[in-house]
Amino acid sequence: MMTIADRIDRLGTETAFAVSAEANAFAAQGNKVYPFHLGDINLPTPSTVVEGAWKALQDGKTGYCPNAGIPQLREAVAADVSASHHVEYGPDNVAAQPGGKPTIGKFILALMNPGDEVLYPNPGYPIYESQIEFNGGVAVPYGYVEGEDNFGLDFESIEQGITPKTRLLILNDLQNPTGAECSPEEHQRLAELVRKHDLYVLADEAYFDMRYDGTSRSFVEQPGMVERTVILYTFSKKFAMTGWRLGASIGPKEIIDVIAKINVNDESCSNHFIQYGAVAGLTGSQTEVKAILDTLRERRDALAAGLNSIAGVRTYVPNATFYLYPNVTGAMANKGMDDYEEFRRAVLHNTGVSFTNRLHFGRMQGGETEKYIRFAYSGIDVDEINEGVAKMKAYLEG
Ligand code: PLP
Repeated sequence: MMTIADRIDRLGTETAFAVSAEANAFAAQGNKVYPFHLGDINLPTPSTVVEGAWKALQDGKTGYCPNAGIPQLREAVAADVSASHHVEYGPDNVAAQPGGKPTIGKFILALMNPGDEVLYPNPGYPIYESQIEFNGGVAVPYGYVEGEDNFGLDFESIEQGITPKTRLLILNDLQNPTGAECSPEEHQRLAELVRKHDLYVLADEAYFDMRYDGTSRSFVEQPGMVERTVILYTFSKKFAMTGWRLGASIGPKEIIDVIAKINVNDESCSNHFIQYGAVAGLTGSQTEVKAILDTLRERRDALAAGLNSIAGVRTYVPNATFYLYPNVTGAMANKGMDDYEEFRRAVLHNTGVSFTNRLHFGRMQGGETEKYIRFAYSGIDVDEINEGVAKMKAYLEG
């Protein structure tokens, strides 16, 4: 019998992909499906990026390139982030990555020793929990609380979670799945805790530029945080480039050098010609990038209005991300259901509407009484949103 290494028992996964497979199987039986389950984007990558990459391909940029990325990309990313974050980053602070996701594991490998404790958001992107535990750390969850018009950080769980063994904090501001955005006061309070307990921070800013109103503010603006924070940066969302696989780790040179050494061991370098496409995307016309946001804003508004019209469902309208995280406690009770997966499948089979739920965003914590599901509106057009939500309303209110 084949023996798989013990450490694989500690490796988690993204169970949203299983929901996607289930929805595809249901569609293959001839059923109409409304896909709200994955944060993928059904919009084209801007032509600036496509043409930049195509030209690089024709110019023969097909060999290995520097492990931390081509100088032009490191320069362009540093300039982009310095301008939007009001801090000074140079090319030495940037290491290109094949997507945003690799920064999570590499940050943990660079800074966490086995047995160290890491605070991470739960509900949150499931890869944090997976990578902390896979690398021998202790994953300590913190939550969010439903406020007036936004989810807020649950400082009680953060403060209770800090022990002498706590080494790292993961913050996903403009958060998946809740859409939560920290207020300046929350950033300030968190930075005080980071300084007091001498922590290092992963600021997952995958959605920093997926913003419809107002201005995104980064945690690194807080005093002392540039020196102890690594930013997860990605081209996936802003440039509709999920399948191209390009992102970057941004932070103190000492940490970025270590991450670049991990690059040498993992993938040697990120895709060469795509980096030229990304430079063209960052430095060229932003018209198509803005058009992506305009389309997503229309979808957000249609989806939020539709969901909020359903009895027993309420959702905020976050200014950023492409997710809604409605509270469906009432709707589930109306249907006499308490089980998340039973509810998800009942809605899928009766209406074709496919979404993920709380269970797909980290292990459930004790004391959770409210029920939440997550809708991604990045992969579905407005007409389909309206049609799907109308079916869901008829089913839930029927
Ligand atoms: N971080 C968060 C919070 C995400 O939601 C995602 C993707 O959905 C990522 C990181 C990784 O994105 P990618 O690897 O496609 O850049």
